[in-house]
Amino acid sequence: MSTKPFNAFEMAQTQFDKMAELLGLDQATRDLLRQPMREYHFSLPVRMDDGSVKVFRGFRVQHNDARGPGKGGIRFHPQETIDTVRALSMWMTWKCAVVNLPLGGSKGGVICEPHSLSQREQEGLCRAWVRQIARDIGPVRDVPAPDVMTSGQHMLWMLDEFEHIHGGKYPGVITGKPVGMGGSLGRTEATGYGVVFTIREALKELNIKAQDTTACVQGFGNVAQYAIELYQQIGGKVICVSCWDQEASQANCFRKADGVSLEELQKITDRFGGINKQKAADLGYEVLPGDAWIEQDVDILIPSALENSITGDNVGRISKRVKLISEGANGPTTPEADHVLHERGIFVVPDFLANAGGVTCSYLEQVQSNMNYFWEKDEVLGKLDVMMTTAFIGVSDMAKKRKLYMRDAAYVISIARVAQACRDRGWV
Ligand code: GLU
Repeated sequence: MSTKPFNAFEMAQTQFDKMAELLGLDQATRDLLRQPMREYHFSLPVRMDDGSVKVFRGFRVQHNDARGPGKGGIRFHPQETIDTVRALSMWMTWKCAVVNLPLGGSKGGVICEPHSLSQREQEGLCRAWVRQIARDIGPVRDVPAPDVMTSGQHMLWMLDEFEHIHGGKYPGVITGKPVGMGGSLGRTEATGYGVVFTIREALKELNIKAQDTTACVQGFGNVAQYAIELYQQIGGKVICVSCWDQEASQANCFRKADGVSLEELQKITDRFGGINKQKAADLGYEVLPGDAWIEQDVDILIPSALENSITGDNVGRISKRVKLISEGANGPTTPEADHVLHERGIFVVPDFLANAGGVTCSYLEQVQSNMNYFWEKDEVLGKLDVMMTTAFIGVSDMAKKRKLYMRDAAYVISIARVAQACRDRGWV
C-alpha cells in the first residue's frame, strides 16, 4: 500500500500515459496533452470586514483548447493546490470531449475557507479573482463555472466584475449563473441528474431493475443531493449518505436500512452543509464513522465528494454485493484502487463521463445566453438526457468492441478526439 501523499495531477498524468500508450500517440501529442497549455497564478488582496487586507492565492489552468474555448469550474477550498487544479483542468478536457462538446478544458481555484468569510468578503474575493484573469477568460477564450463551494451568486459577482472591466454585457463568459440572470433552468440539478442517467443506462447493461437496487452516496453537496433525488425517483433506495462535519473536521455517515429521506436530511443540514448528528439520531438514523459508506452492503456506490476517496487502503472494504460505481466527484478513485475495481469486474462509470452533466448543461446555458432566449426546464433536461445517454452508449460500445474497462474506453474516445483536433489544427 502506498504511503506517498496523494497528488491528483500525478494521477491524471498516470491515467493519460497509460492511454497514450494504448492509442500509440506520437511523442509531440503526448508532450502537448500531458501538461496544461497555460496556467496563471495570482495574489488576490481582499479588504476584510475588520478593515485589514488579506491576500489569498488563486489559479486558473487552461489545459487544452483545441476543440473550443476552455471550460471548467472554480473551487474555493482550504486545501486547494496547483496540482489539483492542473489535474481537474485535464479532466475537464476529457469530460467535454467525451460528451462531444465543442469546448476545451480549464479549471480554477482559490485557497480559502469560504465558510469563514462573510458574504461581502466572498464577493471581494470573486471580484479580485476576475480582476486578475479578465483578459484571459471570455466567451470565446475560457468560460468558468461553479464547483466545490462556489455557487450561482459567486458566478454573478464574477460576471459583473468582468462586464465592468470590459464595458459590455457578456453573459456567455461564465455559466452556472442564477436563473433570471442568464442562468439555465436545470443547471443546479444537472450534475447529480447526469450521474443518475448513467446509472440508469449502466443498470440496463447489467440487466438489473433500478427498483431492485440500493445505493450508498458519499457526500451531501449539490451533486449528491440531486443524484439522490433522481435515483429515488427511478425507484432506487439510498440507505446511507456521508457528510462533512465542519465543526468536528471529520465526515459522518447516516444510515437508515429502509431508505434515507432527502427532505428530512436537508431540513437538518446546517449552513456549512453538515447534517446534524443529534437530530439525525432522533429521526432514527444510525450515525457511523465517515468512511463507513464504502463498506455498506449495497448494489451501487456513488462517490460524490472529493478526489482520493476510494484508495488502495479502503478498496478492499467494498462489499461483494457492489456491482456498479458511478463517480459523481472528480478523481474519487486512485489508480491503485481502480485496478482492484477492474479486477473485481465492478462496472465503473468514470468521473469524467458520470459527472459530465454539469458541464453539458453549462454548454446549453452558454447557447441560451448567447441567443438571449431561454428554454423550459423540461427542454433543457431532455437535451441533457439525450447528450449524456449518447455519450454513455458511445463509451460502453467502445468498451465492448475493444474489450476495455469503462474508464479506459472513455479515455480512448476523449483523447482520440482531442488529439485529432490538435492534428487538424496543425499543432502536432
Ligand atoms: N465544475 C463542474 C465540473 O467539474 C462543471 C464545469 C462547468 O460547468 O464548466 O464538471
